[in-house]
Parts: sequence; C-alpha cells; structure tokens
Amino acid sequence: MKAILDHIGIAVSDLPASLAFFRDSLGLHLETSEEIASQKVRAHFLSTGRSSLELLEATASDSPIARYLDKRGPGIHHLALRVDDIEAALAHLKARGVRLIDERPRPGAEGALVAFIHPSAAHGVLVELKQPAPAVPLFRTVARHGLGDLELVTLSDGFIHLDGGAMFGVVPRALWEKRLPPDDANRIPLGMRPLIVRGAQTLLIDAGCGDKMDARSAAIYGLDRRYHLDHALAEAGLAVDDIDIVLASHLHFDHVGGFTARAANGAIVPRFPKARYVAHRGEWEDATHPHERNRASYLQENFVPLREAGVLTLVEEGAEVMPGVRFRWSGGHTPNHQVVMIESGGKTAVFTADMYPTSVHIPDAWGMGYDLYPMDTLAFKRAFAAEAIAREYLLFFEHDPSMAAGYLRESAGKRVVERVI
Ligand SMILES: [Zn+2]
Ligand SMILES: [Zn+2]
Repeated sequence: MKAILDHIGIAVSDLPASLAFFRDSLGLHLETSEEIASQKVRAHFLSTGRSSLELLEATASDSPIARYLDKRGPGIHHLALRVDDIEAALAHLKARGVRLIDERPRPGAEGALVAFIHPSAAHGVLVELKQPAPAVPLFRTVARHGLGDLELVTLSDGFIHLDGGAMFGVVPRALWEKRLPPDDANRIPLGMRPLIVRGAQTLLIDAGCGDKMDARSAAIYGLDRRYHLDHALAEAGLAVDDIDIVLASHLHFDHVGGFTARAANGAIVPRFPKARYVAHRGEWEDATHPHERNRASYLQENFVPLREAGVLTLVEEGAEVMPGVRFRWSGGHTPNHQVVMIESGGKTAVFTADMYPTSVHIPDAWGMGYDLYPMDTLAFKRAFAAEAIAREYLLFFEHDPSMAAGYLRESAGKRVVERVI
C-alpha cells in the first residue's frame, strides 16, 4: 500500500492561544474549520503545503479529545495518512495482523472516508487512514444518442492519469486546477471514450489504450481499467465480431492501444477480427517513422500488426469512411490529427479526439503541451468553435473524465458546454 502524510492532528485546550502561535507567529494559513458532531470536536486545518495541521478542539466534556487532554494535556494527538483505496488498505493491514480500531471505514470531514489503527499496533502513535472524497466525478456510463438515421453509442475504456501541466500547456495550474483538481502526483484523471456509430455498418472510432500496457507504464499513467471497452461493448449489446470498421483519429497509444490484442500464443493480432481498420495516410507515415518527440506516443505494436494482417486502409482528408461519417483535418496535436464529422438528418455530431480532449479545453488558447503544432491547434479551434456554436454540433469529448458529449453555447460573450451525455 502507498500512503502519503495528509495531516497531523494536535489536541488544543486553548484555541485562541494555539492560533496565535500556529497562524500568527508561524504564518500558516487557516484554511477551513469544521465541526464533527459525532466526535464532539471542532477541527481547524492550517495548510503546510501538501499536508496540513489539524487543531482539534473539544466541543463537549465527554468528547474523546477532552478525555485525551485530561489524561495527557495538549500536544500531538494523531497522524493521518492518505490512501487511494481505504478498503484495500484495511484488508492489507488486517491480513498482516495489525490491530485496528475501525475494521470498516467511516465518514470523516469533507466527504472523506477514515479509519483508525490502534496505537498499540503503531508503536504508541494513533494513526488515521484517510481516503479523500473524489475531486473529479468519473463518468463511465454507456449511453445512446440518436442522430438522424444513425445511432451513436459512447463507450469507456476506463481512465488514465496524465500530468495536469502537460495537459494544459502554457495555462497556469492556478487556472486549470479549479476545473480538474490534480492528485498528489500532479496528475488529472482523463477518460478514454471510444464512440460507436451504427448506420449502414457498425463503426468504432478509437478504442482506448487496450490491455497490452506493461505494469510499469500502467503505474506511471495511473491506468484504471477495472471497467474497460469489453465491458462497455457487452453493456451496449455488441461483441468484437459486430464491428465492421475501426477508425483512428490519430495513432497515439491512448487512442489505438485497443486496436490490437495479444493472442494466446503471444502474437499481436487485430482485436476486431471482422473489421477493416482505417487510418489517415499522413498520420500513418508519421507514426511508423517516429522521432524523439513523438516516439513514446507511437507504439508500433498498436498498428503495424494491422498492416501485416492485411486489414488496414489508408485514406486522405475528407474521406467518407461510411455514409455520414468522414475525416476532417484539424492538425495541431499531430500534423495530421483528424476529427470525425458525423452527419445525418440535418444534424451533426463531431468526435473531437485530442482537439478538444476535455470540455475544459474549450478556450482557444487552452491547448495541450503535447501538441506538436500549437499554433495550428489554435487556428483550427478558433474557426471550429464559431462553426460549432452556429450549427449546433454535438461535440464528443474523448478524454473528459465526467462528461461524454455536449453542445457548445455562447451566452453573454462566454462559451459554455451544455452537457448532453
Ligand atoms: Zn494524442
Ligand atoms: Zn489523447
């Protein structure tokens, strides 16, 4: 288990005097105060960077803190360690014979789950485990949307965690962290949302990162595929054999890792046995001739086996892949990054891939540090946004952790996304 110091709890008998020292003399910032009725305690949190001090004040004479003060006087009361999965942490400790005060997590301050380890098992220290409330709600639902004669089905291949700074390029953290709060490693959760288009045939756009990633990379990227594309397809009533066409917005691993799979004999084979795979010719050339700057994103095992299996078709800009579905060049992210225009019955949906990776990337200048040609991204976004608002395009956000699709609206000079899925 991995634990990070969250806070140190200090029992105080004279709060004003304690604040005069910790806040005024030491200059620590008082962030929040919260009454925890069940514990008959008021907690005051002072920030010390990634962790904090928690001044604990008894609110009744029979409060556990009041009893502690009677017995031992003011001072350090407990330390709290932050864990990702408190259930797993408790199970791990229990299996090692560690004596616990709480065998099950219980609700703590600010929506967190907490549990205490007995001081006799922790060399005289009262240790609290804390699993914070999720900072970003994760949406993994399979959902259907009718578009003229076509049916769109949004899927999920789980979540990946990428560096927040890299995801927002030159935008300062002070601005983006309010929208997508990062974890302790400065990473933000990102969805991987392939899209099914059902019409003349059944077409799949992108396929998430798949299951070939090694354990080390999976840890670096915080890969969470407890629920992945196979689950989503099953939930949508589809099997891998039902997919006729697989389309790549571009060939980065988080979009096409799921194009191939490892067979029982170790060979890497097309994941969708009856499908024709379609990629942009220029993107294919770049992906198969990588350089230092893009090599980590273009993993050959994700697409070269498709050519070897004879199931690959390369197309140019504007190619109609299936009636109502066509590629449109956006560039910027990679020189030949494509968005996918989906049109039927006078309505238009757009799979925006890494052009608008999340709904937070709507402002024209909020581009990714990963973009190879950021000025091209900016120019495309500027023109595209006006068009999307005027023509009411339904936009699909492949990496948004909490939303699959929405309309871009402008009201009082501000752009907002009206969530649909
Ligand atoms: Zn990409
Ligand atoms: Zn991506």
